[in-house]
Amino acid sequence: MLDGTVAFVGAALAAITFGTFAEYFVHRAMHWGLLYPEGHRWHHASNDPRTFLRDVLDYGMGAAALSWIGFLVSPTIGLGWMAGALAYTLLASYAHQLQHANPDLVFWMKRPVHRLHHDAGYVGANFGILVDWWDRLFGSYVPIERQRTLPARGVLLKAYLAIPWR
Ligand SMILES: [Zn+2]
Ligand SMILES: [Zn+2]
Repeated sequence: MLDGTVAFVGAALAAITFGTFAEYFVHRAMHWGLLYPEGHRWHHASNDPRTFLRDVLDYGMGAAALSWIGFLVSPTIGLGWMAGALAYTLLASYAHQLQHANPDLVFWMKRPVHRLHHDAGYVGANFGILVDWWDRLFGSYVPIERQRTLPARGVLLKAYLAIPWR
């Protein structure tokens, strides 16, 4: 039972880690002009993140395409990997929306890496969305200084929920 739980959680974490790695290279490929160059140019020119649901569908398509591979190992690993792929899709979509709506609320990174990618004119750097690890590892991290202003305590939860959901 415990072994099963460990395998499930391990597979889920592996899928989330792999998701952030894929996100980094898919985003870089967009800037190399290999994937959706038009759509991505529009995203930068307009600075419009569309909605959480649109991101879930976009990111989820890639995640779904790779969601079955854990079943090659075992049913437990398969389910864990699938749960991780779903969790990654939801987390990355939320992280993208939040960094457009209110980047100061991104507490899990020192700086909101996707917002830096957009608003400082550094389109050739900071490709991560959910995390900044891969930028740091592959040398594309540019730590632009920015002040963080948090909303008052009483409205904090409201601020976290104030993204375009659909
Ligand atoms: Zn964006
Ligand atoms: Zn970009």
